[in-house]
Amino acid sequence: MPSLPPVTVVIPIFNEEAVLPELLARLTAVFDANPTVQWEALLVDDGSHDRSTELIRAHAGRDPRFALLELSRNFGFQAAIAAGLAHARGQAVVTMDADLQDPPECIPEMVTRWREGAEVVRAVRRSRQESGPRRLGMDLFHATFNRVSDFPMESNAGTFGLMDRAAVDALNQLPERNRYFPGLRSWVGFQTAEISYDRQERAAGQPQQTFRRLLRYATDGVFSFSYLPLRLLTYAGILIAFLGFSAAIFYAVRRIIGIETAPTGYTTLVTIVLFLGGVQLIGIGVLGEYLGRIYDEVKRRPLFLLRRNQRTRPGSAPAPRVTE
Ligand code: UDP
Ligand code: MG
Repeated sequence: MPSLPPVTVVIPIFNEEAVLPELLARLTAVFDANPTVQWEALLVDDGSHDRSTELIRAHAGRDPRFALLELSRNFGFQAAIAAGLAHARGQAVVTMDADLQDPPECIPEMVTRWREGAEVVRAVRRSRQESGPRRLGMDLFHATFNRVSDFPMESNAGTFGLMDRAAVDALNQLPERNRYFPGLRSWVGFQTAEISYDRQERAAGQPQQTFRRLLRYATDGVFSFSYLPLRLLTYAGILIAFLGFSAAIFYAVRRIIGIETAPTGYTTLVTIVLFLGGVQLIGIGVLGEYLGRIYDEVKRRPLFLLRRNQRTRPGSAPAPRVTE
């Protein structure tokens, strides 16, 4: 039975053949430069249909510190992270993107912080290389998110970070399906430290998360950590009802004191109907957001399914189970 590797690096992979050679090389270099740490890299293949799994398998064959976990199809970034966290064997687990936007060279600093007593180490972006609409969207999200979250959360931190076994176990226990990882990591608490880093441009290949997925991820973040949209709806409802009530009194008083009111215009009527209809539709939409999430939670479908766990294939040592 191999002794537990103290540090596991979890990396979700979806069609990353373009960056994989550099990723594997840079990780290996970091591992080699820090031989006192027992490293394990757990690459979670999220249903790639390019040569990613081949490349990882070949590398894992040469270097036993690397292991491949294959999901049965593309479940998305959050599920891939969850699968990695559930199967990581380390006493600490580092999470990072595959595209080298999170430089692996920062990992030793996180490990140092962990050894000094931090149970969660968050890598905070000092700067960001991305630009264009994606960047704009992300900035907008973080600005909004910090305002609306019912729970204090720091901006400028994404997936990149380290968690102690205790925090990982806590996170693995959370049953919810709509997972916004940085939010949940803050939510579980524990002694937290920060390191700062410069977020790089993607080293090669195209972003694998579609804009739609990112948007979905952002709504998950807002709706899972904030009741503000529901509350805003109530405020808007109260305001509109108050305006309607005032208008009614206004016209009634004019009628009573005998000022002839002109026949109300068709336009006014249509405007009011449309306006109220709009407000109601928004309201239904917001309720739907929460309802859909409740439905997701109630279904209790597994977050991910494994096709194969390289570490448990016949002939290799069985992995100790870290989940229930
Ligand atoms: N990824 C994944 N499943 C997906 C989409 C992306 O596992 O369905 C992985 C991807 O391989 C990368 C990380 O998630 O390691 C972040 O993806 P990407 O760089 O495309 O997104 P962004 O930088 O825009 O957040
Ligand atoms: Mg990226």
